[in-house]
Amino acid sequence: MKKIALHWQILMGMVIGVLFGLLMTQFEGGNDIIKDWVKPFGTIFINALKLIAVPLILASLIKGVSDLKDISKLSKMGGKTIGLYIATTIIAVSIGLLLVNIVKPGASITEETRQDLVLNYSGDAIKYADEAAKQKDSGPLQALVDIVPDNIIGAAAENKNMLQVIFFAIFFGIGLILIPNKKAKPVKKFFDGFNEVILKMIDLIMLAAPFGVFALLAALVVESPSVDLFKALAWYALTVVIGLLLMMAFYILMVWLFTKKSPSFYLKGISPAQLLAFSTSSSAATLPVTMERVTEHLGVDEEVSSFVLPIGATINMDGTSLYQAVAAVFIAQAFGMDLSLGVQLGIIVTATLASIGSAAVPGAGMVMLVIVLGQAGIPEAGLALIFAIDRPLDMCRTAVNVTGDAAVSMIVGKSLGKLHEPKVKDWDDNYPN
Ligand code: ASP
Repeated sequence: MKKIALHWQILMGMVIGVLFGLLMTQFEGGNDIIKDWVKPFGTIFINALKLIAVPLILASLIKGVSDLKDISKLSKMGGKTIGLYIATTIIAVSIGLLLVNIVKPGASITEETRQDLVLNYSGDAIKYADEAAKQKDSGPLQALVDIVPDNIIGAAAENKNMLQVIFFAIFFGIGLILIPNKKAKPVKKFFDGFNEVILKMIDLIMLAAPFGVFALLAALVVESPSVDLFKALAWYALTVVIGLLLMMAFYILMVWLFTKKSPSFYLKGISPAQLLAFSTSSSAATLPVTMERVTEHLGVDEEVSSFVLPIGATINMDGTSLYQAVAAVFIAQAFGMDLSLGVQLGIIVTATLASIGSAAVPGAGMVMLVIVLGQAGIPEAGLALIFAIDRPLDMCRTAVNVTGDAAVSMIVGKSLGKLHEPKVKDWDDNYPN
């Protein structure tokens, strides 16, 4: 029998998970059954993915950087990567701003709904604002200081400190380039083999992906708030989703223009990572799969993908920045505020920076939204307005974040002559039966 392709398996897992969740909400005690007996499997699946993230970054980045053989290549690749990441983020924020000004979703919120939402969610909003306040309190160079860890074990112990692990790996890789080849060889060989093992582990974890996403989505359905609240926020959600779709179209166009790869090649290659990003709401948890798909199925040389993707997962969040722009203006509209052009241009800057600063975990974009609101003089209490629908939007924006990283890695790969025919033609070949 022909094996069903992985993306279909994951999609089926998602759909059955949602249906099962809906079914269980009809029974008394159904919610508890899901929470006690189904959700833990989703958590185990996410944990397994996160478990791989730090060793993967270390092994692949050290190998990738040391393979470059000279430092000037590294700075060339670094410059291109960061430049493209910032450019795509600014485009995303601009699309978001344009859309929210055209659709004006905040104008359709009645005074009554607004009060309802603020009443229901102000507690949660305060929690997020507190978290953001901690980040805001630090000095202007704190972000830079945070990149350099004082202890690598400590940095690797916290999945939140990916940039520190990346810093260590690049630094180590540079050291490896600079020592005599005879000494470097065994170290390189070790990381080469280590990397292969990690990639195989990802293949194995992916076998469980359809079941993992089933559990995650079933749990999400029983824990989500009432449908009525979703309706009130429909225009806002629609604006974000249209923006995200436009961003996807933008990536497809860029990939096609710069690499001549067809949309179906690109989407087929990256779709399991997109579905996983959607199900987990975490670019960091998805990173191992993004790396594997981009390297083995989209043909980006590991030298490039191992550098571009971990950095992208941590700093390039186009979906998040687009969402932050729409959400900020939506809240202003709902509070009857008119934002001047100057303020909106300011949002381009703050949303770009806030998305760079957002951690690659669920809900992080909303925490950093507080900073965008603060800069634009929009009341923080407005967070309560968008709380109910944040998780589904988080799922969508995370999928876009991951798609953007893949697009940039293909373009950087192409520009450096490091985009080849993919190793895996039939794109499920490397998953063991
Ligand atoms: N969940 C997003 C990510 O991991 C970040 C966010 O927008 O909340 O990419």
